[in-house]
Amino acid sequence: NLKGKRAIVTGSTSGIGLGIARALAASGADIMLNGFGDAGEIDKLKSGMEQAYGVTVGYSAADMAKPDEIVGLVEDAAGLLGGVDILVNNAGIQHTAPVDEFPVERWDSVIAINLSSSFHTIRAALPLMRKGSWGRIINIASAHGLVASVNKAAYVAAKHGLVGLTKVVALEAANDGITCNAICPGWVLTPLVQKQIDARAEASGIPVAEAERNLLGEKQPMHKFTRPEQIGEFSVFLCSDAAATMTGSSYSLDGGWTAQ
Ligand code: NAD
Repeated sequence: NLKGKRAIVTGSTSGIGLGIARALAASGADIMLNGFGDAGEIDKLKSGMEQAYGVTVGYSAADMAKPDEIVGLVEDAAGLLGGVDILVNNAGIQHTAPVDEFPVERWDSVIAINLSSSFHTIRAALPLMRKGSWGRIINIASAHGLVASVNKAAYVAAKHGLVGLTKVVALEAANDGITCNAICPGWVLTPLVQKQIDARAEASGIPVAEAERNLLGEKQPMHKFTRPEQIGEFSVFLCSDAAATMTGSSYSLDGGWTAQ
């Protein structure tokens, strides 16, 4: 039961972040949503969650590529909810290209959003967690935080970096009642992955369903997507007392991807 806990979930207007925000709210946590999207849709999301779960839900449009806006997000969350106990670093983007053709400005934005943003949120939120002698930091890395694939230089570098950052924060907060872990999903069917499936279908002139089967078959022994709700439930577990000594680790929900 997370009643009274206050959570920030970055990139929670879609996909995995939204699944995590819903699961935390369903367990009683107050939530600060963040991410891009249509203002009306986001407003509906916010009030829908408040009604369904009886918790307070705020929203910040902070851009996770901008350090000053990230500090603003943490300040806004602390102001609206009265503090910060749970931080889920989930916002992320993808860009695929061979390393020698990788656009420099895409490299910079993938590193900023998928890695540096977590440094900035953690830096701002850790002192607030220490105040209450309790905290949970969950970094959404990836199977690509543990192993590589071609054409994903920035993403793989950022996710490996995030796994490293997770370990350092775990050590530094080890005796403060605060844990820091990474979750490493394999394929989850969200807009981020749908774009890659559509690109494959178009590049090879095959139906989208076939491109989806190929994508799963290439890397993931279990030919089935992990659902955002499942990552949400696992995040709730990481916030529970049962997980109080689980820290500095990476947990794969990847259908066997990294067992190979
Ligand atoms: P998604 O595209 O559905 O959602 C991404 C979210 O991040 C959205 O809410 C978007 O608005 C937000 N976002 C993007 N750029 C932002 C920015 N600059 N500032 C603030 N918010 C921003 O993607 P998803 O698949 O749900 O991905 C979520 C996380 O999970 C990412 O870190 C991704 O790398 C990771 N992940 C996804 C998969 C997968 O298969 N989908 C697998 C492993 C890891």
